[in-house]
Amino acid sequence: MTGGAMALLAGLGSSRLAAFSAPAEAFPVAHTEAEWRKRLTPDQYAVLRNSATERPFSSPLLDEHRPGIFACAGCSLGVFSSETKFESGTGWPSFWAPLRDESVGTTRDISLGMVRTEVHCQGCGGHLGHIFDDGPEVTGLRYCINGVAMTFKPQAA
Ligand SMILES: [Zn+2]
Repeated sequence: MTGGAMALLAGLGSSRLAAFSAPAEAFPVAHTEAEWRKRLTPDQYAVLRNSATERPFSSPLLDEHRPGIFACAGCSLGVFSSETKFESGTGWPSFWAPLRDESVGTTRDISLGMVRTEVHCQGCGGHLGHIFDDGPEVTGLRYCINGVAMTFKPQAA
């Protein structure tokens, strides 16, 4: 692990605001762009590495209702739980909280003429989706996540 990655891990928890000013360059899991292209499908690469958005209602994970963990497709870090998944009607898998606060990071996204909060995996920096403030009462947040950026691991029976 590099010194930079160590520093990043040490700073987690207090780095929620720092993440806005310091573009996340150093993550525990790092690959060259060529390596990422080999490891990911073209759709996964477009979302995770280039912040693309999948077509709404295109993800099979939308209808995934078994108990389990949704993991980053880039590095397998658990990022969301079935326990916080809800039906938002938007066409993208939606959650009202991450699996753990330290599982995901956020940055300010001003693309497409909107100010949005981008959410990414803290394991590899892969883009997952965006956070909106129209979620259910529990937290009031809606993590709008690209299903293609995740894999589902059903809970062992
Ligand atoms: Zn990841």
